Amino acid sequence: CGIIGICSLNGLGEPLGRALKRSLTKLEYRGYDSVGVAVIGKGELIVRKGKGKIGEVDARVKFSEIDGLIGIGHTRWATHGKPSDDNAHPHIDCGGRVAVVHNGIISNYRELRAMLEGRGHVFRSETDTEVIAHLIEEHLKEGANAFDAFRKTISELKGAYALVAVVRDEPDKMFFVRNISPLVIGIGSGTNFIASDIPAFLEYTNTVVVLNDGEYGYVSPSSIYIERNGKPVNVEERIRHVTW
Ligand code: GLU
Repeated sequence: CGIIGICSLNGLGEPLGRALKRSLTKLEYRGYDSVGVAVIGKGELIVRKGKGKIGEVDARVKFSEIDGLIGIGHTRWATHGKPSDDNAHPHIDCGGRVAVVHNGIISNYRELRAMLEGRGHVFRSETDTEVIAHLIEEHLKEGANAFDAFRKTISELKGAYALVAVVRDEPDKMFFVRNISPLVIGIGSGTNFIASDIPAFLEYTNTVVVLNDGEYGYVSPSSIYIERNGKPVNVEERIRHVTW
């Protein structure tokens, strides 16, 4: 179970999918049964994923060839729903505007799913994770901007989780929350990262912010915003340089 998110002003000199694949490879030690990526490229949200090893799935669905300036990747260790192509992350909403990757467990997903199905949402997987994409969609439909929709969504979730979401209509932000499962931000020049562990982005930067439980916010190519209990966190004070 690993998460990587990359957002870049001008790209990394190679397809974003290829950089995401390399990062996921560095998280392989955490164990996984499926892998996938979502990239926003030319205003479109593209998701490619499947059950199996990183190299096998890439050979099948060619996720390393997708290009764009913002993308998220995931290696899954199934807890809710068997290992399968449909249950692999990222998960998306009905409209294909929102993509989510998640480590951990959403313990109240059954109630949330029943509520969302009652409002007409159609689910494509058996995971606890998929409710998150549909909840964000529901709040976007109510007129919220992407960060407010994300904030409302995480206030409705119970469990232990780290998650990262992207929204097609605001393609310069990766929204995140850390609640027990680990998550670290990497600060590069013109490119920022978020991951379950530092090795995922260490080839690009050793400047990091290690998130604490209860922190959420967004990462854009040139800025980091973190909140806790509705109050902004001073990011400057939290920046560290890793020396390994
Ligand atoms: N609970 C989620 C699932 O089963 C995430 C598992 C993970 O941490 O990889 O899909």
